[in-house]
Amino acid sequence: MKKRLAILGSTGSIGTQALGVVDAHPELFDVEILSAHSNADLLIEQSQKYKPNAVVVTNENAYEKVKKALNNTDIKVFSGANALCDVVQWDTVDMVLAAIVGFAGLHSTIAAIDAGKQVAIANKETLVVAGEIVMQKAKEKNILPLPVDSEHSALFQCMIGEHLDSVEKVILTASGGPFLGKKTNFLVNVKKDHALQHPNWVMGAKITIDSATLMNKGLEMIEAKWLFDLQNDQIDVVIHPQSIIHSLVQFKDGSLKAQMGLPDMKLPIQYALAFPQRLNNDFKRFDFKDFPKLNFEQPDYKTFRNLALAKDAMYKGGNATCVLNAANEVVVHGFLQNKVGFLEMNDIIERALNDVAFIEKPTLQDLEETDAATRRLTESLLKGSQ
Ligand code: NDP
Ligand code: MG
Repeated sequence: MKKRLAILGSTGSIGTQALGVVDAHPELFDVEILSAHSNADLLIEQSQKYKPNAVVVTNENAYEKVKKALNNTDIKVFSGANALCDVVQWDTVDMVLAAIVGFAGLHSTIAAIDAGKQVAIANKETLVVAGEIVMQKAKEKNILPLPVDSEHSALFQCMIGEHLDSVEKVILTASGGPFLGKKTNFLVNVKKDHALQHPNWVMGAKITIDSATLMNKGLEMIEAKWLFDLQNDQIDVVIHPQSIIHSLVQFKDGSLKAQMGLPDMKLPIQYALAFPQRLNNDFKRFDFKDFPKLNFEQPDYKTFRNLALAKDAMYKGGNATCVLNAANEVVVHGFLQNKVGFLEMNDIIERALNDVAFIEKPTLQDLEETDAATRRLTESLLKGSQ
């Protein structure tokens, strides 16, 4: 039986690479659902190639275009975020790949879990915002959410065959991004074109900026906390510029396990889609001759304040990580439009963390309201900074 996939965010960096995995293993996977936001042309192309049962388009203009183009086909075309939550629950879906970027991916991921589907989670923001609720629901449904993020895939692979209570701590590796070693006098003038040039990974714009500010690693600490049910002080970060060791688990006897490989997201995507199988592929292999040295250093929390802010939010708990995420989404969007400076992003996120009302045990509704309130505040701070 083929695994029937719903690929949410199929037009993105993760989505297109996931379809590459499907191309390489047509005997294992069928594409049942695809979704896009604004990239109508690519979604139309993908629909013609993979012939899914249905597609969902969340942007109204793009929806009209896709609907028209697929008019003479059997493919159902739906619009809006609610449709995402409906289609993932269909009986014809076995696994949902959550590859939408940002808070926009939260509800469809939860809907998939509520329906008892296997989920592969790339959308880390879902876990940052509502990790406790998401993992509780997964537990109730007896589902093991499969991580797609390379660090979390690494941790997952290292933990297989181990008792979770023998984990002492996890160590997330961070490349350090394009500004590793730089100080504030340099960062103050950084513009988006430079920040978008990641040394090791090719990814969507938002996560690339998050990697440059180290917010990505902060989000990943929170993601790891919920995925692996860790205490805050069990999560460490080390800078490893070559991105060969994707993360490490240290066990209570002091032994460390690491997962290694070239930086290529196709591998963790394939691992999650095919789990528990490992599949053959023609991906480039790691060669020690190309990497005579692997380096490690401590992160600079003072310069890259986003990492410290994310860590503080993780310790604070409650809705603080939701505030962190919403403020970050707004400032990154602003930075990509040249509306806010690189370092100003830290200041605005910090203000949001201080000013939005704290809720210790937020419900999903509380988190929606926190997200909306934080966006309003952050937008106004952004305007004020211009
Ligand atoms: P991209 O920006 O490349 O793609 C995002 C996808 O989400 C696109 O299909 C986009 O549609 C869709 N989308 C955007 N906004 C909305 C919305 N409001 N409603 C519904 N769909 C929307 O992002 P990435 O693929 O880089 O990242 C996806 C997720 O995976 C993120 O959470 C990221 O943190 C995570 N991740 C990514 C990695 C990577 O290597 N790229 C690595 C590890 C994690 P459209 O293009 O049609 O507008
Ligand atoms: Mg990652």
